[in-house]
Amino acid sequence: MKYAELADLYRRLEKTTLKTLKTKFVSDFLKKAPDELLDIIPYLILGKVFPDWDERELGVGEKLLIKAVSMATGVPEREIENSVRDTGDLGESVALALEKKKQKSFFSQPLTIKRVYNTFVKIAEASGQGSQDRKLKYLANLFMDAQPEEGKYLARTVLGTMRTGVAEGLMRDAIASAFGVKAELVERAYMLTSDFGYVARVAKLKGNEGLSKVRIQVGKPIRPMLAQNAANVKEALVEMGGKAAFEIKYDGARVQVHKDGDRVVIYSRRLENVTKSIPEVVDAVLESVKPEKAIVEGELVAVGEGGKPRPFQYVLRRFRRKYNIEEMIEKIPLELNLFDVLYVDGDGMIDTPFSERRKKLEEIISQNERIRLAEQLVTTSADEAEEFYQRALELGHEGLMAKRLDSVYEPGNRGKKWLKIKPTMEDLDLVIIGAEWGEGRRAHLLGSFLVAAFDPHSGQFVPVGKVGSGFTDEDLAEFTKMLKPLIVREEGKYVEIEPKVVIQVTYQEIQKSPKYESGFALRFPRYVALREDKSPEEADTIERIAQLYEFQERFKAKR
Ligand code: ATP
Repeated sequence: MKYAELADLYRRLEKTTLKTLKTKFVSDFLKKAPDELLDIIPYLILGKVFPDWDERELGVGEKLLIKAVSMATGVPEREIENSVRDTGDLGESVALALEKKKQKSFFSQPLTIKRVYNTFVKIAEASGQGSQDRKLKYLANLFMDAQPEEGKYLARTVLGTMRTGVAEGLMRDAIASAFGVKAELVERAYMLTSDFGYVARVAKLKGNEGLSKVRIQVGKPIRPMLAQNAANVKEALVEMGGKAAFEIKYDGARVQVHKDGDRVVIYSRRLENVTKSIPEVVDAVLESVKPEKAIVEGELVAVGEGGKPRPFQYVLRRFRRKYNIEEMIEKIPLELNLFDVLYVDGDGMIDTPFSERRKKLEEIISQNERIRLAEQLVTTSADEAEEFYQRALELGHEGLMAKRLDSVYEPGNRGKKWLKIKPTMEDLDLVIIGAEWGEGRRAHLLGSFLVAAFDPHSGQFVPVGKVGSGFTDEDLAEFTKMLKPLIVREEGKYVEIEPKVVIQVTYQEIQKSPKYESGFALRFPRYVALREDKSPEEADTIERIAQLYEFQERFKAKR
């Protein structure tokens, strides 16, 4: 299949904002894709080469890309760089450079999707000495045979800047419609494997029946089960039917650990592969997890003096590290608190009730210095649970989780089987959708960020306030750098920003207000931290804000 056909799809996707039309385009494309390409095409359509959880990455920045295009076209690097200033987009500038290419090579071959993908794999796998040069050569070869429009999309894929508005939900619907299977089954299979390539293949070749037989697999991350809020311990206990497992809610980063013999892979909550950054945890897992094959889940916590938990940002600092890892092991020691088991030696356990999963977890784990079982209290007594809650807070934890003893594991679902209890007026995680350029000394910096909550029904981000305080000058410089490439529109000093960046915001109160279409406005919002561990769709929802507003009013009434 020719790459030109894919380029044509990207172009059509870019031209329409209509979801139904986009879905149809993607679905038609999947339908005509040959079987052997089905594993990779969904990712290419999403503007990626590999799933996010795949460790491989291209490792090509703008500089190297420009060099490759220059090599392929004879257009000087400087000229391509300058042209980006006019077009505002490297993809467009690559297309222009390819148009200028003096002569077509006699041996030029039309690009196929297979060749493009294979080259990407080679680029990703090039490592060690001379790898930059090899990457450059592979890329230049592609651009040499690329038509201008193909070059534009190749560049965007390489840099991860494809903006065709195809997200996960749309891909799910397109797969369902392409192969005449049920969207719920596509969704289920995807929640279990996080692999659209695999799901598309099963949908096409095995239909609804095949999809319903998809099971959790070691080596493919499952979407985590999430929790709703409870106002207090008592309410949680009632909701759980009078008896529940209460567990400490550790304030760290959630991880999913896949063990297969002596191979361990650890995924973050966003299902990124973080294995390499935490080798001491890998060693501890090998020592502690007894079965040959297993998938367990837990919260990774940074511990300080006297074993006291440190804020979750410390763990994220560990995840981001590529160098000096040994030094970080010393500086930020980690402890993994396991709270679930999803797979043991060939048996998927997500349909097993929680109480039995916990029993199994206790069986298969031998605790060591770094790996522990989440502290748990199974009780029918609200007083006992309240005591546990107070103790958890005193120890510096976030609060408690309450879990239904008979509940199955629901991947990706935020239901009522798990409830979290923590002090109310918690901070919110919101998405930046706009900003203002500063004045005077700060004229070159973005400030006063318009933040929004997610509305899962419409898929839109609805504004709830403007955050201008809590930032240091360094924060503002960092945010400006990060957000500039995401600017979609400018009007005077106001800019509209593509919803990508999530920040944690504290505030004094939630007010009902007509000022924003959400109907809510935050009073005195203040920046706390960048939430790199969350995608925009994982930001707090507008329903959550409505719920917090209710809590707040109830609390006020009690005082
Ligand atoms: P928050 O922003 O409050 O951390 P969240 O949106 O990240 O919440 P929730 O579903 O609201 O996720 O809360 C559950 C999270 O709490 C889990 O994703 C996990 O990271 C963390 N956690 C800590 N301790 C436990 C535990 N014992 N059992 C389950 N989850 C736990």
